[in-house]
This record gives sequence, C-alpha cells and structure tokens, in this order.
Amino acid sequence: MPAEGFTFGTNRMAMISTATEIDIQRVKQSRLPETDLANPKFGRVFTDHMLVWDFADGTWQRPRIMPFQDLELSPATLVLHYAQTIFEGMKAYRSQQGDVSLFRPQANIARMNRSAKRMCMPALPEDAFLHGLKELVRMDGGWLPSGEDGSLYIRPFMFASDEYIGVKPSEGYRFMIFISPVRAYYQEPLRVKLELEYSRAFPGGTGEVKCGGNYAGGLYPSKMGQDEGYHQQLWTDAMEHKYIEESGTMNVFFIIDGVLTTPSLDGTILPGITRDSILTIAKDKGMPVAERKVTVDEVVAGLRNGKVSAAFGAGTAATIAPIKVIAYKGEDLELPDLGADSEVHRLGRMLDDIRKGRTPDKYGWVVHVS
Ligand SMILES: *Cc1c(COP(=O)(O)O)cnc(C)c1O
Repeated sequence: MPAEGFTFGTNRMAMISTATEIDIQRVKQSRLPETDLANPKFGRVFTDHMLVWDFADGTWQRPRIMPFQDLELSPATLVLHYAQTIFEGMKAYRSQQGDVSLFRPQANIARMNRSAKRMCMPALPEDAFLHGLKELVRMDGGWLPSGEDGSLYIRPFMFASDEYIGVKPSEGYRFMIFISPVRAYYQEPLRVKLELEYSRAFPGGTGEVKCGGNYAGGLYPSKMGQDEGYHQQLWTDAMEHKYIEESGTMNVFFIIDGVLTTPSLDGTILPGITRDSILTIAKDKGMPVAERKVTVDEVVAGLRNGKVSAAFGAGTAATIAPIKVIAYKGEDLELPDLGADSEVHRLGRMLDDIRKGRTPDKYGWVVHVS
C-alpha cells in the first residue's frame, strides 16, 4: 500500500501502555464549526481524525492518528476481491457528569479478535487497541451531539491490504478506526419479514463473526423485503428455515408467556454485546429469561393467540428497536403498542442509564475517556 506522504516528526506522541507510541497529526482546521450536529445523517458525517495501524513484516507497525481522509489503494488490493475484512461497531456517550465514555469496549475488542481469527487475520494487541481508541475519542469528543439521543458511532475495521490477486490470506493488513456522530437510528417501530427463502448464515460459515461478506449476501433479500415495505428480514436457520436467528444487524428478543426469550448462540448468530447486556440486566432484575431455540411456528402462533406480547431488535446502532409487525408468508402479524412503562422500554432505559452514568455501573461496563 502506498504511503500517505505524511511526516509525523513534529507531532505530539502519545504513550500507550504496551510502550507503543501513536504518531499524532492534527487537522489544521476542524470541520466541526461548519457541521450540523442537530440532524446528522446516520453514518454520513465523520469527525476530524482517524486512526491507522498497519500490519507488515509479520508485526504491527506504529499506529497513527491523522486527519480523516480518503485511502489510496491498488486495484489489486486483496480485500476488494475476496472480502477478507472485519469490523466492529461501538458507541461513545456523554455521561450525566459531562464526560465522554465508551460502553464495554473490551467486549468489542475481544470480538474483533475472534473475527480476525476466523478470517485468518492477525490479532490486535488489546491494550494498544483500547489506548488508540481512547486517544481518538478524546481528540474528537467535541463531535458528540448534545441531547439524549446523541452519541458517537465508532467503526474499527481491518482489511487485507496486499497487492495481489491470488486467493490466499494477505500478508499485510490495515486496521483503522473512524467516528461518526449520530442520533437515533430507527425513528419508528419496525416492520420485519420472516425470511423463509434466503439465508444470512449457515453452520460452519461466518455468521458468528463480523466480517464484511455476511452483509453483502444479505443485501438482495433485504432489498426485496424493503420493496415490499419491511425494514429488515427476520432471518431463520439456513437448513430448515424453522428457527429464528436474528434481524438485520440486530439480535432479536421476544416476550413469550412473560419470559424474555432470545435465540441461543449456536454458531450462526452474531453474539451481540447489547444482547448480552440486556440478558445480564434482566437476570439481575429477576426477570424470567430464556436463551433457547425459538421456532418460527411458536412465534407465529404466539402472535395470533397473544402469547408473544413483545418483540424487539437489540444492537449498538439502534439499542432497542421495538418490532410492530412480523410478516409471515404474506400476512402482517401485528404486535401490541408498547407503553412507555413496558418491560421492553424499561430494559432500554436501564441500559441507557448505565451507559450515561445515571445509575451506578455495577458491572464495570463503562470506560471513561475524558
Ligand atoms: C453487530 C451485529 C449485532 C449486534 O451486536 P452489538 O454488539 O449489540 O452491536 C447483531 N447482529 C449482527 C448480524 C451484527 O452484525
């Protein structure tokens, strides 16, 4: 990969705990004053800086933080052909005390390294990852939109950077982090479609890691669903289309007979950190919780007879996204409206209260940046 042509000699160095230093080059002029943070389009506005960390000659090189900018890549760059790429998604919030904090970043880092392993990519040193992440968020923390629904969406990713078109694991990789200021993701309750034809993931495949190819394969069925008026697919297992797996880029929960129920992680479902956080909080509050196989049949029957009283998606981008309609073979099965004091919204608020420092963080999930 060609060098960017920057010189870092005169810039500040930040020490990180693994004794790696980050070269820092700040923007000459921030774009923040001319950016409208009142209504940023989700995922289309980016902060001033990005982190770049290359893996070359069998080792991680010196990480850099530099102005957010385009990449220059050879057309033969491996990732562009065979999708050897992984990513993460996490958020930073402004706490009640006014500082910027991350929610469970170590869980994202650990998951990224599991993804890396599955995709034949080098593991990232966890301490250095966290330190680089904190440094970047500290530098661009001023971009965090004010108000209850404002956050910074943080996108770490890694890709195969060799200039070579044979099918084999790359020798060089580029890891990067950039940040997008965001507000609420879904404004309205979701309409989802039980997908009984196409599949997102299959046993032995890559469904349980966050690799780019998983999403490319889902675009076509999602597009068809959207043309029919649904926000997302509700994916089912690839073998029989009998078990519900997850929805779009979210894990899925149902309240069935009063039990908070979510499909168990069986290798084809992405182990969401939001999912895990909700399960932890719900168990702690004494709510009945079940992680098990959830069949299409029981959910369809439960929607008809009222045993399924709520359904929602859970993920970093949307946090908790209530589901209003589940379509089954052309029929829209409706869920009751959730009042503000419903269990679903209460769970969402409990999670939010921890993220924003309004309740004690008894689980040790919050990492302060500033
Ligand atoms: C990222 C993702 C999730 C949610 O994970 P979180 O850690 O909660 O953000 C769920 N399903 C898929 C397919 C995902 O890519």
